[in-house]
Amino acid sequence: MENYRRQLSRFLVGKTAQSIIAEWPKRLNCPAEVASPAIAGSPIESIERRGKSLAIGFERAPDTFRVLYIHLMLGGRISISREAQPAPVTLTLQDGLRVNFHVGLGRLDFLSPGALRQRWAHLGVEPLSPTYNGDRLQSAYSHSSRPIKTCLMDQKVVAGIGNVYSDEICYDVGLYPGQPASSLTDFQWQRLGAVLPTVLEKAVDAGGVGPPIYEGDQVTGGFRAQLAVHYQEGKACGNGGIVVKGPIGGRTAYWCSDCQPT
Ligand SMILES: [Zn+2]
Repeated sequence: MENYRRQLSRFLVGKTAQSIIAEWPKRLNCPAEVASPAIAGSPIESIERRGKSLAIGFERAPDTFRVLYIHLMLGGRISISREAQPAPVTLTLQDGLRVNFHVGLGRLDFLSPGALRQRWAHLGVEPLSPTYNGDRLQSAYSHSSRPIKTCLMDQKVVAGIGNVYSDEICYDVGLYPGQPASSLTDFQWQRLGAVLPTVLEKAVDAGGVGPPIYEGDQVTGGFRAQLAVHYQEGKACGNGGIVVKGPIGGRTAYWCSDCQPT
């Protein structure tokens, strides 16, 4: 999502909104006919991200339409185009650009800035922010019997880690993702706290793992080529082991049978 924030900021901030189109009305929290006049003519002032959600700020919209909150959920994506594309919800700009929200199971909500802050209040710290402190993971989860992968994806202590990055982080630490959090040693907790932001930083710098956002997008998805274990079933890991996959905490996890002993 950080890649989306960067790319959308580049294309959208300073542009003027024209309308919102909801092919799937249930994916938007209000009728598009009501929202469109509220945002029409407003400059887009910001694209913010917290955890795995985004918020587009409309500078001159009425309070309850000031922010468009976007949570894509599993399989969702965003594309930018000049031509109309089939999408559940589309934001159009006065210069003809279209932002297509292929939300899947996710949704978009027009909110006031106050409501957005409330929605984000329960999220944990951003791993790439100065307030990140790796020790918090141990204090929060050292008594949890849940798999460490599930704890990493929990969003309440550290925000923004999904299925792909939790696997990559566990690999870098040499931790089996299904290992109960309560069984980690002090050393493993320290390694985990230190490795976590470095994996995410590499991923963000490389463009994340998502599909291209616009035609000719050479940035988005660049981290796919660097994935050590996720999507790599049957391949050799860099250290000679073979990557396997299996269900952990209701998600498909990938790990190296050698480097991450169960
Ligand atoms: Zn290995």
